[in-house]
Amino acid sequence: MAQDTRNSLWSHTAAPDISATALQGDVQADVVIVGGGFTGCAAALALAQRGVKAHVLEARSIGWGASGTTGGQVIPGLKYDPDEVDAMFGPELGPRMVSAVGGVGDEVFGLIEQHGIDCDAQRKGWVQPAVSARTLEIGRRRCEQWQRRGADVAVVDRARMAQIIGSEIYRGGWEDRRAGHIQPLSYVRGLAGAAQRAGAVINVGSQAVAIKRDGAKWRVTTAGGSVLAGQVLLATNGYTDGLWPGLRRTVVPVISYQAATAPLPEALGRDILPERHAASDARRLLWYYRRDRNGRLVMGGRAPFRENLGAADEGHVRLAVDTLFPQLRDTPFEFHWFGRVAMTQDHIPHLHRLDEGVWTALGYNGRGVGMATLLGRFLADLATGTRPADIPFPVTAMRPIFGYPFTRIAARALIRYYRFRDQLEAD
Ligand SMILES: Cc1cc2nc3c(=O)[nH]c(=O)nc-3n(C[C@H](O)[C@H](O)[C@H](O)COP(=O)(O)OP(=O)(O)OC[C@H]3O[C@@H](n4cnc5c(N)ncnc54)[C@H](O)[C@@H]3O)c2cc1C
Repeated sequence: MAQDTRNSLWSHTAAPDISATALQGDVQADVVIVGGGFTGCAAALALAQRGVKAHVLEARSIGWGASGTTGGQVIPGLKYDPDEVDAMFGPELGPRMVSAVGGVGDEVFGLIEQHGIDCDAQRKGWVQPAVSARTLEIGRRRCEQWQRRGADVAVVDRARMAQIIGSEIYRGGWEDRRAGHIQPLSYVRGLAGAAQRAGAVINVGSQAVAIKRDGAKWRVTTAGGSVLAGQVLLATNGYTDGLWPGLRRTVVPVISYQAATAPLPEALGRDILPERHAASDARRLLWYYRRDRNGRLVMGGRAPFRENLGAADEGHVRLAVDTLFPQLRDTPFEFHWFGRVAMTQDHIPHLHRLDEGVWTALGYNGRGVGMATLLGRFLADLATGTRPADIPFPVTAMRPIFGYPFTRIAARALIRYYRFRDQLEAD
């Protein structure tokens, strides 16, 4: 199967798509946005709400990239713990960053409420269950650091985690009650629809093939026409092509694979995530899972590096389901799909100034539901004159990864090593 969001559970259960056509002719805007995922649509919505003329160019359809294929878990925070972020970015920027990334739950669920987005939003919390003494301790420290900052989080003991998950395999962990889950394709379509209603123009089937200076502005060209604008936002993440030289080499796209069962009958599903938490466990190659609105179990995990996956590649997620919920051993999956997760070398999402009036945000390292929504708004701020120093996130220059052609080989080796270490710890 090549990537096709129509194979996913989300495309079968999503709210209707927006009405949009391909770009025809030469037009003008204040800001042109390339990419129609969470980043691009959140930016377009924020701009349109301020009366700024925003124009989105999406190569395929809204949410076709990672946004329409994600697990839909809204998880605050970065890979680094709050104390580490403070230490890395200093006493001025560090705490502002921690506060911003800790607030992504409010950002996402606030937009959903404000715009009446119909996307099965459930803010029932997220847990990070631990498989080993080491990860239990990491989770305890992480939770304590958020608690010190007033976040609604709690350490979860072994018995309570067994109740939350419906499985005995974990040693405990921690719970973040700021978090939850959404139907991601409905959410991104909802953002796009709200942006259109606020005045943004959205063209689909419109791949940007060139960005060139045109006087004091930029002209972004597609096969059918062009958009002339003072500001350009690139929101192409793991699907970045050669449009902006070097940008593709700033992230490593890795494949994440998901599968969903049919709605589980009461007898089988009663004990599985009964309070509807989202969960991503603390393995190096994590298992992430949740229920959908119809009671299906949706399970995700790392997949091979190929982009032509088939049902035979479900091994990693099948193992996860069978280990966690042995009662589902004979329950087949109804849907299989995958997408590209954009990883950065420093494990932090990147917000770059590429040139005068050209900005990008990408590389969410698997935390893009919240972070892409947040950084989309920050892109809108930058395009409307907010100084980079006033954004509570580092705005940096683009730096392609050194030795990029070898990153896939290195990543493959790392994944094998992680799998080995995970097995050792779980035994
Ligand atoms: C399988 C999977 C599971 C995930 N699970 C989670 C999760 O549970 N929680 C979480 O927080 N994050 C998760 N993530 C990460 C999250 O989905 C992404 O970080 C987020 O969707 C990124 O949004 P985006 O808008 O930046 O990029 P995308 O949604 O990838 O959008 C980029 C868009 O740009 C378009 N494009 C590219 N080039 C051009 C061009 N030249 N012209 C026009 N358009 C172009 C593409 O067609 C694409 O639609 C997951 C990702 C995957 C793949």
